[in-house]
Amino acid sequence: MDSVELERFMDKVRKGPLEEDCWIWVGAISDDGYGRFSIRRDGRERMVRPQRLLFEHVTGRTLSPDVKLLHSCDVPICVHVTDGYGSHLFEGDDSMNMRDREQKRRSGRTHVGRRGLSRQELAARSRDLRKLILTVGWDREAISAVLNGVSPDQPRLFDWP
Ligand SMILES: [Zn+2]
Repeated sequence: MDSVELERFMDKVRKGPLEEDCWIWVGAISDDGYGRFSIRRDGRERMVRPQRLLFEHVTGRTLSPDVKLLHSCDVPICVHVTDGYGSHLFEGDDSMNMRDREQKRRSGRTHVGRRGLSRQELAARSRDLRKLILTVGWDREAISAVLNGVSPDQPRLFDWP
């Protein structure tokens, strides 16, 4: 990313107040609940995953397509990448992904009940989170309510306009 593109990118990111907080992507969100960002390379527009783009930018490494980026925070639209300690994103594969979730489930560390969620529900959750950040700002309690999943069938905590 050049400086212009990086600025356009960071314009779509809202960082939490604490160093360990998520950096929430408030740009476009795909139907699978992850962000997307358009870049221009060799005169062509391409849609990329913001967390992968920032990871490559920050670490200077190129991710091959079969390498997955896993979220330690379980927030699909988090783009908190650092080169080393404190990063919310790390390289892995599907088996690591499952082990990671299993460990979190056992230790009760995860606050996000992502398993069993459909793509649609994940996308709705990401969009709810984006909307919250953009309208209310960094309200920790409200964020955790969104992440803990208030499905459309359950009473809604927020009445979105
Ligand atoms: Zn995060």
